Amino acid sequence: FIKVRGLKKSYSETIQVLKGLDLDMYPGDRIVVIGPSGGGKSTLLRCVMGLENIDEGTIEVDGKPYIKGQGRTEKNAIDHTIQKQVGMVFQHYTLFPHLTILQNLTLAPVKSRGIPRSQAEEKARGLLKRLGLADKADAQPSQLSGGQKQRVAIARALMLSPELMLFDEVTSALDPELVNEVESVMMQLADQHMPMMIVTHDMWFAKNIATRVVFCAGGVVVEDGTPEQIFSNPKEQRTRDFLEKIL
Ligand code: ATP
Ligand code: MG
Repeated sequence: FIKVRGLKKSYSETIQVLKGLDLDMYPGDRIVVIGPSGGGKSTLLRCVMGLENIDEGTIEVDGKPYIKGQGRTEKNAIDHTIQKQVGMVFQHYTLFPHLTILQNLTLAPVKSRGIPRSQAEEKARGLLKRLGLADKADAQPSQLSGGQKQRVAIARALMLSPELMLFDEVTSALDPELVNEVESVMMQLADQHMPMMIVTHDMWFAKNIATRVVFCAGGVVVEDGTPEQIFSNPKEQRTRDFLEKIL
């Protein structure tokens, strides 16, 4: 369903972050990407979201070209119809502080997708209810806890009916007691078979939600396999060293 080939990305002429990364994602996959800091996990997700200009390589979705690198200084060829099917949630909640929760959810669907306001609001209320936030529709982001804000950020991404969700350390900035409420929302999405790519440092959660774990270091995929295989029987020394340090 997603095929990443030879993905290269540099932020400057001298430092290449992704060095020819290959990755396949199949229908039903929930991929958790793990690896050392600076290894390129966030960069990978940002590239899949189409937020970064890649130097080289291609990303295909369902056999169709999605993003093609055309050199470091040339703009990517990108299929924006496919891009619209991808949703992303970041570590730091990026809600609009001056808008209510309901307005945060309906803004993009109404303004950029032309969905009628009444329809968007109905969908937003349904999502808020599902995520246990029904009573927060008219609150301001500042009145919410970190965990609630992240759940709203997830709801906001879901408003655009994505077919793939990307999560980059969405619980890393949360107090420990709030992590669970956000992870259970992600588990709910998993139960509904939402394809996901997740970067997390929570290995317990990774084991539970992943169908595949990808160890990414030095700008390439070093090893990938089932959670059982990666966590209990990693093949590569680099994966073993990393897991020994964090587990
Ligand atoms: P972490 O676990 O710390 O989040 P990561 O695996 O997500 O790390 P990336 O954020 O993808 O790593 O960063 C990979 C490298 O690219 C790092 O060396 C980082 O300093 C560099 N980098 C990331 N974003 C930028 C940017 N916008 N401009 C310049 N360099 C960047
Ligand atoms: Mg990162």
